Amino acid sequence: MPPEILRRFAPQDKLSGDNQVTEAAVGIIGGSGLYEMEGLKVVAERDVKTPFGEPSDPLVIGEIEGVRVAFLSRHGRGHRRLPSELNYRANIYALKLLGVHTIISASAVGSMKEQYHPTDIVFPHQFIDRTRRRADTFFGDGIVGHITFADPICAGASKVVSGTAREVGARVHEGGVYICIDGPQFSTRAESNLYRSWGVDVIGMTNLQEAKLAREAEICYATMALVTDYDCWHETADDVSVAQILGYLRANAETAQRIIRMAVPRIAARKRDCPCVNALQFAIVTDPDAIPASVKKALAPIIGKYVR
Ligand SMILES: [Zn+2]
Repeated sequence: MPPEILRRFAPQDKLSGDNQVTEAAVGIIGGSGLYEMEGLKVVAERDVKTPFGEPSDPLVIGEIEGVRVAFLSRHGRGHRRLPSELNYRANIYALKLLGVHTIISASAVGSMKEQYHPTDIVFPHQFIDRTRRRADTFFGDGIVGHITFADPICAGASKVVSGTAREVGARVHEGGVYICIDGPQFSTRAESNLYRSWGVDVIGMTNLQEAKLAREAEICYATMALVTDYDCWHETADDVSVAQILGYLRANAETAQRIIRMAVPRIAARKRDCPCVNALQFAIVTDPDAIPASVKKALAPIIGKYVR
């Protein structure tokens, strides 16, 4: 991390692993159309500061069915931040600081296959990265770590949420490849057709960095991809536009909220018997004595289990 960020780290910022709090076990990241959660009994708002800067928005601590959750509006309330302007590291770090062990993410995506209709929900299990220059690791500046990322989504958590989505009556597709692009522009037709030839199922702009950082932070990550459009490859559907997306977002957001409300207690009760729990166990290759003390301190909530 750059020196100016390290300098922002001070003991009074409550950022060390020693005073990590357990305010919420489940984190919810709401994307386009999901800026707040109905049915969330708000307990507090936390303006969390991290060594990587500030999250997209203050985190809302609340209760759903008696379970403490931390809700984060991905683009900030009022939808103020572009996908490439998001501080993914601060967002995931802040959730980790609050004690979150599982993140349920919801976001709008374009469909890359005929069978995924607008308002359907896809639960991707794989990603392809078409982003550039996004900060997507907690490592660097004196510490090297390589996590295993062959299966980037927590299968256990995803299954709980997809099962709940079926119960709620959504059209659900389990599994699929999510291609993550920078945006903010939608794809060209040539790109859209290229991605389809790669076997891509849905297209979005945010989830991959969240999944990478959640895994580095040993947080289970499951994502609901809410279909709003057919991108621009479809011969009869209109090319994707904001107007078209907004039409489906409201219906999608209501469905997403119903699913999240039912899924939260199940996610909280789930036994975390998945590899996410120990993702860092053999990932850090730097000799602990060679890791700068400032980095150890800044990353304590993430690496404190393994490096002191
Ligand atoms: Zn997991």
